Amino acid sequence: MSKYTPTIGLEIHAELKTDTKMFCGCKNDPHASESNSNVCPVCLAHPGTLPTVNESAVEKVIQFGVAVGSNIATFSEFDRKNYFYPDIPKAYQISQYAFPLVSGGEIAGVPLTRVHLEEDTARSQHDTSEGSLVDFNRAGVPLMELVTEPEIHDADTAASFAKELQLLLRTLGISDANMEKGEMRVEANISISDSDELGTKVEVKNLNSFKAVRGAIEYEIERQTVALESGNKLVQETRGWDEVKNRTFSQRSKETAKDYRYFPDPDIPKLQVDSYPRFNKSRLEEIMPILPNKKRENYGNLGLNEEQVDTLIQNKVLDKYFHSVTEIETDLELLKLTANYLITDFAPLLQNSEPELTLSPNNFLAIVKLAYNSKINSRTAKNLIMDLFDKDVDPEAYARNNNLLQASDEADLIPMVQEIIAQNQSVVDEYLAGKEASLKFLIGQGMKVSKGTANPQVLAKLLESEITKK
Ligand SMILES: [Zn+2]
Repeated sequence: MSKYTPTIGLEIHAELKTDTKMFCGCKNDPHASESNSNVCPVCLAHPGTLPTVNESAVEKVIQFGVAVGSNIATFSEFDRKNYFYPDIPKAYQISQYAFPLVSGGEIAGVPLTRVHLEEDTARSQHDTSEGSLVDFNRAGVPLMELVTEPEIHDADTAASFAKELQLLLRTLGISDANMEKGEMRVEANISISDSDELGTKVEVKNLNSFKAVRGAIEYEIERQTVALESGNKLVQETRGWDEVKNRTFSQRSKETAKDYRYFPDPDIPKLQVDSYPRFNKSRLEEIMPILPNKKRENYGNLGLNEEQVDTLIQNKVLDKYFHSVTEIETDLELLKLTANYLITDFAPLLQNSEPELTLSPNNFLAIVKLAYNSKINSRTAKNLIMDLFDKDVDPEAYARNNNLLQASDEADLIPMVQEIIAQNQSVVDEYLAGKEASLKFLIGQGMKVSKGTANPQVLAKLLESEITKK
């Protein structure tokens, strides 16, 4: 056990899913295939242009705050964060400094400091055949920045926090939060200390996967421990993460807030948040979707296990589908069976979204009920889910027309059973001599002859009684 306690705070940026950019009417589509196609004089910072606040972006950040139990500001304003870089056309970024929209709140047990709104930078592309290029499609896209309290002490907690945040952003529909696409970007501030005072803080930027979050924090804790143990001093700096070499590397010394010379943007009117009905807390509570924690509780009450619950809530389509079934069926056994079939047989079909999904939750439940009532066997249920995925037909009628219904009627099965006994006399003798496995073979024959439609339990019972009758 190391004598140093690691302290970690996270800063996470998420691109918001609005129609237009943060301060102009350009389409919010940072991944548009044609570079510099979503640009205008405002987001290119032509002199004399004025920014206009995108209310939908403000609403999304406030909705997020309401979802995680934060304080919502009654008053807010936008500030200029001054720095020069080729991807920032105004030579400042519009952000929020003294008056963030949201403060406090908590996710997965980690307290939040604040959540504010700013604009994204353009995207630089270096080392192209034409030198360095800049694509301004991303410049001015609304960006939510969330800052946690420095109250995380290990890499796993940091990674789970990021995962839960992603789920929350997706559930709220305010960001796709795809880390590979840069829609959610994590920075970790990491320090270690063997006293009550915090150690020297190192910031690791642009962590674009949960694995990177975990890896970078573990690496930094180790690197800083070795440095202090060898009597070296740590410097406050910004480091990058090398995914291939699995290590962080120094990028530059860290700027402080003072370096950015923040001041309120004189071009943007102050935001009296509480005067907008649109930002009203009770209105936002009313339109709030069911949040992940509530879903976990609900599904847990239905008897689903943790893994099933997790699979459902991480998959929007699957979750919605299962939710629809819970609205028409309350029997716990049937719902558990439904979850099983949904996760093992239905989910893989969704992944290659063709064929088009037309199987209604109602008909899906009908298939599950056929299996539950032994009218079809489990194999047939799986086949039906696949066959009816792109059809809107009554499963029972379909199964009947295709001779898939399980034959459980003894009178119907007896002639076949007698035939099997007659044709497998040596196996029957073995069974009579005490070889239990022989019965399994005879049942297998019955399943084969009936093309899988015979009810195996009924078959076993008939075989036994017919054999002993002799
Ligand atoms: Zn624009």
